[in-house]
Amino acid sequence: NKIITLRSRPQGWPTDETFEFKEAQVESPAEGQIVVRSLYFSVDPYMRGRMNDSKSYIPPYQLGEAIVGGIVGEVTESRSEAYNPGDKVMGYLGWKLYNVVDAAAVRRIDENLAPLSAYLSVIGMTGLTAYFGLMDIGKPKAGETIVVSGAAGAVGSIVGQIAKIQGARVVGIAGSDEKVKLLTDKFGFDAAVNYKTAGDLKAAIAEACPNGVDVYFDNVGGDVTDAVMSLLNDYARIPLCGAISAYNMEEGADLRPSILTKLIKTRSMIKGFVLSDYTDRLEEGAKQLGQWLSEGKLKYEETIIEGFDRIPEAFLELFKGTNVGKMLVKITPD
Ligand code: NDP
Repeated sequence: NKIITLRSRPQGWPTDETFEFKEAQVESPAEGQIVVRSLYFSVDPYMRGRMNDSKSYIPPYQLGEAIVGGIVGEVTESRSEAYNPGDKVMGYLGWKLYNVVDAAAVRRIDENLAPLSAYLSVIGMTGLTAYFGLMDIGKPKAGETIVVSGAAGAVGSIVGQIAKIQGARVVGIAGSDEKVKLLTDKFGFDAAVNYKTAGDLKAAIAEACPNGVDVYFDNVGGDVTDAVMSLLNDYARIPLCGAISAYNMEEGADLRPSILTKLIKTRSMIKGFVLSDYTDRLEEGAKQLGQWLSEGKLKYEETIIEGFDRIPEAFLELFKGTNVGKMLVKITPD
């Protein structure tokens, strides 16, 4: 077996010291267990938070143990009545080529309904995050303006399209000209701004939002959020999904006083959320996303890197923004 563990807790950006590659025998499954061969690994920004030893909505990774994340795989051996070899499953499993787990640790997925990778992207964790954060907290109405940061990423690209389905005007903020073009050309955004080259970012966003901002779906925090906040309309709603610009900072996040003042002045609502708040509604979300997908109303992108050894590299690329849509690592069986 091949395994990637957390060797040390990073200060700032993760380095080669952060991860350790190990080899071991694949254990034999006990009664009720299955062996799952990994086919796709999801790498996600939230994993950076789990590398810190700090209190959060999800416990930290333990030193010396496999990193855990979303994985799609194939059952290669089963001692459970629930699964047969060849079945495709999804679960939160270790960064291992083979995971030996209780059958209840995974759920069955159907590759006839959607490509396997989609269960980690558009109809999986990131699509569901977009759906619940936008619909439950953002509550966009037809004619309103919604701005989404991290717009060309896995969550952001779906947020913008759902807002379009609701009849809103959608403005995306992303970090390259290629991404900006993709947002308007492929994902149907009304306008998009490159935050790295805009110069006066506030002016550029203001130009794209002549009627101000009613919903700001925040994936990044920092300077981008500062700029959007200054344009909030009264009673704006801000689903606070992520703050990737702060994840590799050595200390302190970025909820700056100017932002808080603006919230008061506009009587706006900002609400942090995590997908696990919606555990009992996941089926509803997956069904709706699947329906929009089959109707052609939802498009998605994936950036797929191949090879188990490249999982840490793929993870780090998230913070450099080389991905478009969902970042995944694919393992092609020998
Ligand atoms: P993405 O696919 O959006 O990938 C990350 C993107 O973030 C990069 O492509 C990059 O795009 C952008 N980025 C990186 N560094 C910065 C920076 N310093 N400033 C601005 N943008 C930056 O990842 P996800 O869609 O998986 O996640 C997006 C956000 O949502 C993250 O903050 C994540 O933590 C959060 N999240 C929250 C969940 C929840 O339950 N609350 C669940 C899932 C995700 P660019 O080129 O545009 O800079």
